[in-house]
Amino acid sequence: AHRSYQETFRFVDLQESLTKYPKLIPPNDDSLKFGKVMTDHMLEVPWNNVTGWGSPTISPYHPLPLDPAAKCLHYALELFEGTKAYCGDDKKIRMFRPTDNCQRMHDSAARIALPTFDIEELRLCLHRFVEVEKNWVPDQPGFSLYIRPTMIGTEPSLGVDQSAEALLYVIASPVGPYFPTGMKPVSLLADPKYVRAWPGGSGNCKLGSNYGPTVMIQKEAVSKGYQQVLWLFGEEHYITECGTMNMFVYLKDSQGQAELVTPPLSQGTILPGVVRRSLLELAESFGNIKVSQRPITMAELVQALNDNRLIECFGAGTACVVCPVEKIFYKGEELLLPPIPKLDLSAPAHSADPLFLKFYKILNDIYYGRQASSWAEIV
Ligand code: PMP
Repeated sequence: AHRSYQETFRFVDLQESLTKYPKLIPPNDDSLKFGKVMTDHMLEVPWNNVTGWGSPTISPYHPLPLDPAAKCLHYALELFEGTKAYCGDDKKIRMFRPTDNCQRMHDSAARIALPTFDIEELRLCLHRFVEVEKNWVPDQPGFSLYIRPTMIGTEPSLGVDQSAEALLYVIASPVGPYFPTGMKPVSLLADPKYVRAWPGGSGNCKLGSNYGPTVMIQKEAVSKGYQQVLWLFGEEHYITECGTMNMFVYLKDSQGQAELVTPPLSQGTILPGVVRRSLLELAESFGNIKVSQRPITMAELVQALNDNRLIECFGAGTACVVCPVEKIFYKGEELLLPPIPKLDLSAPAHSADPLFLKFYKILNDIYYGRQASSWAEIV
């Protein structure tokens, strides 16, 4: 029978065949390494260019049958997402702004000629998937369940061309706290000879092909004694991102007004982070900070540092929420940023907290249900 082309998959079509042999859930302690242990199930949705999307299924976690000629293996027709589910102090499970991840996944798919879909249908499927895996959401403070939506082009064909077949799938992995022994400031290697993204490129999308080439540079940073890469762009050495985090610079402008700066999305070189957006909205709500999405160069950062106008630098992303920066190696010199006071992450929010710590506490209070917010969706 002829089946018309399905532009999206639908949550109402979701089929489930749950495992009869649940795995032993590992103890949630220091031995839990990021991304190593997977939960019992996976969500899958097949697509092809004749009938479009099929029905979503949740079934036991399993290897994929993949033809060696599958396009994802040759031309990196692949994209992914990263978000977390948190078990609150009230034992309710929450996801943080999952619609944003669904939208970004949709936009990544459009950028790499993989099929798009209705983001609300994906959001509903993610909710159900997390509900199925609810026992895997650790209930210890600082722990969470990392969720990894993925899409691959699976057509077995060696032409550099759109894939006639694709698979959207979602896996999940329990993760421990990013800062198990208190928040540690990081040091960055800023070497303008390496470029992560450029105007007209794909740096604003979460394509695997943006990440593979960064591994060797990250290794170089570590071998030189730095923890992360500060990604610069252009002759002007524009600050773009650090590691897999959006970069924020908090400074006093020349009039003495406190300004929070993060690079703008307009060039397509910055990943539109969910935490980035949230911090910008929080900072606006504080009312006493000028909030700027504008280009910022290393020269401006160095000038602010030399004029004692630099207040804080920090990265922001789902993994850590925020991560303060203590030094940057740039042009053969170590820039020592303003010293970071000893941080007590468990202490209640205090008006004298640095800005990054305020952000950290507010977002964690939302993740774990201590502060009600429309950003946290109860599963
Ligand atoms: N920039 C890059 C390059 C990233 O990979 C990530 C992680 N997704 C981020 C920024 C932070 O994004 P988010 O706040 O959505 O985790």
